[in-house]
Amino acid sequence: MTSKYRPFPLVIAAPSGAGKTSLARALVERRADMVFSLSATTRLPRPGERDGVDYRFVDDAGFDSLQSKGELLEWAQVHERRYGTLKSGVEAALATGSTVVLDIDVQGAQRVRRALSDAVLLFVLPPSVSEMKRRLAERGSEDAAQLATRMRTARAELDAVKNFDYVVVNDVFEQALQTIEAIVSAERERVSRQPHLDEMLDGLRADIDGFIQGSH
Ligand code: 5GP
Repeated sequence: MTSKYRPFPLVIAAPSGAGKTSLARALVERRADMVFSLSATTRLPRPGERDGVDYRFVDDAGFDSLQSKGELLEWAQVHERRYGTLKSGVEAALATGSTVVLDIDVQGAQRVRRALSDAVLLFVLPPSVSEMKRRLAERGSEDAAQLATRMRTARAELDAVKNFDYVVVNDVFEQALQTIEAIVSAERERVSRQPHLDEMLDGLRADIDGFIQGSH
């Protein structure tokens, strides 16, 4: 399939509790031209999570093997567990002309930028700390110590916002989603992402020349 634009990765990063996973999931559900990048992780599945859908759940040896075979585009240790983007998923999505959505942590996002320079980096912010706490509690998997760890990590992660291309505050979910869709639409129109621009311009030039000659 030849696409109208050069496909690119959309990297969505955020502190825990900003709601980025829900946004990333909703985006790929809504848009047939966007696919979710599957990550491998050594953490255990939460209730309702499915292997191969939410993550590829692996043990330490499985993760070591993915690393040594060069199957990860990037990886990071987050809250004592390892997470890594599967290179094959990203490559397959880009090859079919889809925008591939990476829901990864802040360090990983910056590594993807180094590996794939055309990646678009989007940082999602929670509207407030009370909302962040509420979302983490709703997930039901955080005890008080885990919550404190996630808050400390979140505080440090805020410093990275300046290395991102966009920042979206996830206050009203639907609005944040629409903003992200608008960003993707605009990014697709970048001059650098138009594979057929030269042909189009040549066609227009030829037509203009024809018009000028005909009008004399
Ligand atoms: P959770 O355990 O809550 O699913 O994820 C914890 C953090 O790890 C989240 O910020 C999530 O986005 C991030 N994460 C998930 N997959 C990857 C990945 O492949 N690479 C990196 N660097 N972070 C990931």
